[in-house]
Amino acid sequence: MEKRKEKLRPPKPPPKGTRCPVCMGFVREDYYCVAREGRDLYYFDEEEHLKRFLEDLSEYKRLRKLNIKSIEDVFVKGWEGWKRAEIYLSELK
Ligand SMILES: [Zn+2]
Repeated sequence: MEKRKEKLRPPKPPPKGTRCPVCMGFVREDYYCVAREGRDLYYFDEEEHLKRFLEDLSEYKRLRKLNIKSIEDVFVKGWEGWKRAEIYLSELK
């Protein structure tokens, strides 16, 4: 129970030097978007890049040599908490 709570807590700001896997730009500490699979967090500098990443996941996995099965949750700075990735994606259409 405690473990699940821990997992679903909103993500911390990215460590200094974190780069967006879409544009390779540095991700700011005061604005960021996050995709989560298990304990792995992927930070993005813009929500547009988070969307692009989710929509073209296989492409970015190949490009950046990422070992991802499927993104479970996403987060955008300012949200109260995580959102299921498939719900987020379905809302974009
Ligand atoms: Zn980016």
